[in-house]
Amino acid sequence: MTPPTKPARVRFAPSPTGYLHLGGARTALYDYLLAKQSGGSFILRIEDTDQKRYVPEAEANFKNALHWLGLPPDEGPDAGGPHAPYRQSQRKAIYRQHAEQLIESGDAYYCFCSPERLDKIRAEQLANNENTRYDGKCRHLPPGEAARRVANGEEHVIRFKIPQEGTTTAHDFLRGDITVENEVLDDIILIKSDGLAVYHLAAMVDDHLMGITHVIRGSEWLPTFPIHKRIFDAFGWEEPVWVHPSLFLKPDGKGKLSKRDIQKARESGYPIFVNDMPEMGFLPEAVNNWMALIGWSYDDKTEFFTMEDLIEKFSIEKLNPSPAAINFSKLDHFNGLHIRNLEVEDFAERIRPFFEKAGYTVDNAILPKVAAAIQTRTKRLTEVGDMAGFFFEDEVELVTERIVSKKMSAGQAAEAARRLVNLFSAVTEINSDTCEQPLRDMAKEMGLKAGHIFGLLRETLTGQKISPPLFETMDILGKEKTIARLEKAAEELENG
Ligand code: GLU
Repeated sequence: MTPPTKPARVRFAPSPTGYLHLGGARTALYDYLLAKQSGGSFILRIEDTDQKRYVPEAEANFKNALHWLGLPPDEGPDAGGPHAPYRQSQRKAIYRQHAEQLIESGDAYYCFCSPERLDKIRAEQLANNENTRYDGKCRHLPPGEAARRVANGEEHVIRFKIPQEGTTTAHDFLRGDITVENEVLDDIILIKSDGLAVYHLAAMVDDHLMGITHVIRGSEWLPTFPIHKRIFDAFGWEEPVWVHPSLFLKPDGKGKLSKRDIQKARESGYPIFVNDMPEMGFLPEAVNNWMALIGWSYDDKTEFFTMEDLIEKFSIEKLNPSPAAINFSKLDHFNGLHIRNLEVEDFAERIRPFFEKAGYTVDNAILPKVAAAIQTRTKRLTEVGDMAGFFFEDEVELVTERIVSKKMSAGQAAEAARRLVNLFSAVTEINSDTCEQPLRDMAKEMGLKAGHIFGLLRETLTGQKISPPLFETMDILGKEKTIARLEKAAEELENG
């Protein structure tokens, strides 16, 4: 099969049982890219038929996460669309009607087996080392009798009828034909005793009714994939293109990502859930770039992709189905690249909340300059407070021992600070043209190295050992603040 030439309709169909994590987000990204590159539609469908595992705030979490990643659905619970409702709990009657259609055609049957009986069969099968599956007792009930029992209100489920012999072949776009013996397939439940459909029925019905052309979903669905193919066949529907991308592995590549790995990643400052990403200082651009490349590559060498690039260059043909290890240090790397790629005004607006969160009052007059000074050295937005918060402070806290370097006395440091005040007061603008040479001469006169003076200046002005380039720092700080900080240092040094 070739990539789509006509508009693809691709759905992201999360179950609201938890928050959006990396695996789901990557699927949503691939869905979005495929839809956009073909001029098609990206659809959000909430698969909330499992009442037991329902997490009320999950749906809002998905929507916020998609919004932050820049993957807005064209159709969905909020966007609406021609196939509304997009929440499966509101489509109960549709599933029931389809299940009954399968009963009519002989592809499904009512089952009245009690949970106790099912537990007993299961236990026996386990004891005999057999696959656990329904033993087919109700397959053979005369349809009239079964219908009567249902009409009488007897508790029941609806099961899919799988032939007991032969094989089923399902075709995955990346993995080719997958053939299984029918005897290993279970007569799965389509409608539970509470009347709600399960994924196997609801998703297939919706994918058909919503005109989905490509199903991209987690590889955990591979074991039941042949059943899904049979459901499409039973209805006589044309199948979508099925794509099961790679599984995520632990960072060391050994085994599936576990709950413990997730905890470990979070403790070391790396996100598994999308909603943790903004406050950890990651850019959505970087996250998308990074996620796209876990299981997809363009040409084995290009690594920087904007969303526009991804829409243009992504192709499902280049998805790699082999399991892929998560490399978090790559995320930092991409974050740095995308930070550098931002327009400085944009970067300024993105770092503003991080200064505020760190307790600084942002001075709008200098924010763009501050942004320009630190943009290339920022890896995560969370770093900016420590790196450049001093620009927004009235005074910095001076630590005498740090101002006075090992090579000079406190007296010399005080003298240097005074001389710097005089030097800077005498020029109209403090910059490297007006001040660098005089500063070097001054060091020489005092028998010091220029580096000592620069170090003193940096500590005095920024309270930090590392800062943006000094002349740029002074330019942003302004003459007044620069001189005031030096005067204060001189006084403190003189007063011991
Ligand atoms: N609701 C399913 C899940 O969250 C969706 C699988 C699919 O995309 O078909 O795993």
